[in-house]
Amino acid sequence: MTNTYLQKALAEKIGQKTKQACPNCGAVMVIRQNKTDGGFFLGCHNYPDCKHTTEIPESLKLELLGYKQLPGFGDPSPNKGES
Ligand SMILES: [Zn+2]
Repeated sequence: MTNTYLQKALAEKIGQKTKQACPNCGAVMVIRQNKTDGGFFLGCHNYPDCKHTTEIPESLKLELLGYKQLPGFGDPSPNKGES
């Protein structure tokens, strides 16, 4: 799925620290972009001393898209509306 808004949001956040911790050394993970294919990923802040990388977690994508401001964030159940 292509999400232009998300790509844009990630592009603006390159180099920013996230709440993710590196499982390898405990440092924070920062948002990085693969210069070759343009894909985004999380890289350890201690790079190049630590070369751990991981995919952008869904929770961070949602946060970037602003879903964290919605009540019930993290609850996948659809909005039932009023009845
Ligand atoms: Zn690390």
